[in-house]
Amino acid sequence: MEFIDEPFIYSLINDEKLNDELLQKEIIQKAKDSKGLSLKESAVLLNISNPEILEELFHTAKEVKEKIYGNRLVIFAPLYLTNVCVNNCLYCAFRVDNKELKRKTLSIKEVQDDAEFLIKQGHKRLLLVCGEHPKKANLKFVGEAIEKIYSLNINGNNIRRINANLAPLSIDDFKILKSFGIGTYQIFQESYHFETFKIMHPSGPKRDYAWRLYAMDRALQAGIDDVGIGALFGLVDYKFETLALLMHAFDLDYKFGIGPHSISIPRLEPAMNAPAAMQPPHAVDDISFKKLVAVIRLAVPYTGIILSTREKPELRRELFNAGVSQISAGSRSSPGSYKEINDSAKESMIEQFQLGDHRTLDEVVKDCTQLGYLPSFCTACYRSHRTGDRFMELAKSGNIGKICTPNALATFKEYLIENASDETKSVGESFIKKELEKEKSVVRKKTEKLIKKVEDGERDVYY
Ligand code: SAM
Ligand code: SF4
Repeated sequence: MEFIDEPFIYSLINDEKLNDELLQKEIIQKAKDSKGLSLKESAVLLNISNPEILEELFHTAKEVKEKIYGNRLVIFAPLYLTNVCVNNCLYCAFRVDNKELKRKTLSIKEVQDDAEFLIKQGHKRLLLVCGEHPKKANLKFVGEAIEKIYSLNINGNNIRRINANLAPLSIDDFKILKSFGIGTYQIFQESYHFETFKIMHPSGPKRDYAWRLYAMDRALQAGIDDVGIGALFGLVDYKFETLALLMHAFDLDYKFGIGPHSISIPRLEPAMNAPAAMQPPHAVDDISFKKLVAVIRLAVPYTGIILSTREKPELRRELFNAGVSQISAGSRSSPGSYKEINDSAKESMIEQFQLGDHRTLDEVVKDCTQLGYLPSFCTACYRSHRTGDRFMELAKSGNIGKICTPNALATFKEYLIENASDETKSVGESFIKKELEKEKSVVRKKTEKLIKKVEDGERDVYY
């Protein structure tokens, strides 16, 4: 655990010299070169409270995000395989002590039903999520679920990338997980603060802080190219959590030459019989939340920042402006809920936590487009083996956009033809037109060629 240096983090948080507006402005200027920030510089920016400097911070985070990733927002949906869990996390409704929760593990047929529902909505990327259970959520089951989902194809529409958020594994088991063809392996440390972690996880295998902390090292050693880290905001002071999360990102970059592919920023939401969720020990207000997102964007500019439907639509829109690059949409946080449940009372009996954004994928897509963001269903990098260091090289050099624009617009066109409502179609078509006008002739021609293929009925086209 040597790389999470708690005394050093606290020395930064408590250093009065780092609470200086001139220094804050200087560091924001420096961040504009998109080369990232040190931990100390990140600590300085987390101290910003002057509204004018905050605005400058948000604006810069948006600018840096757009320099690297353009105006794209990558879209995905979670698919919960089971809510059975042997752990007892004080913030989660799936905890073993919650006897009121209706437990459910999907059969492979039910996995298929949920996946088909999501394919019909237009999703191309899924995040598989599980409680931790040696029998109900074992690797064999996860492998069968992944195989089933990848085998589904509805008139050329299919799931093209499956990411996984599962309990930490051994190196050998990570090798098996990789062999299933997953994209990113993702797990959140929840809290990097050792004492808080111990309090929040009173029993079960998750109590082992170090086993979880080093999960990404093992995953990378096992050959999984892309890993995603995160913290559950609200358990401990947000400045501590953000700096520790960045320390983790820097450590992975230092040791493996690639930082995390993504950073997730879940914030505590109410959950049934979960005391820490009903009364977060260190609730993070909206402004501080937006600030920490912007600081993460500037500290590790090349990393995807993932925002889930835990947050309400209004705040989600604000956070798109602070550096978020991937979002879930049309989501549920319970197993089998896409196809099976259309009753919120029933759903609350099996869900992990309450969602803040209940809009459909179509509504979110239309909203993003109207705000000037390009909803991307693209999975080209993964399919062209541009993962791990190859992806990072492109992202760090700012060249990923040249590949992404044609691919993202082509998959967006696919979505408009196959899945969009008439209203979204019309908003989306004029958006594509405007996006094409913005491009230089080479990229424009490349993109038009791809879009033509989609119009002619080809699916899953990409560079
Ligand atoms: N069970 C595995 C684990 O905990 O590592 C897999 C992921 S768990 C189902 C998904 C994530 O949901 C957790 O890592 C946690 O950060 C988040 N989560 C749990 N309870 C939450 C709550 N009340 N509000 C927001 N996010 C929550
Ligand atoms: Fe289980 Fe994960 Fe929920 Fe903890 S957060 S109770 S490990 S599902």
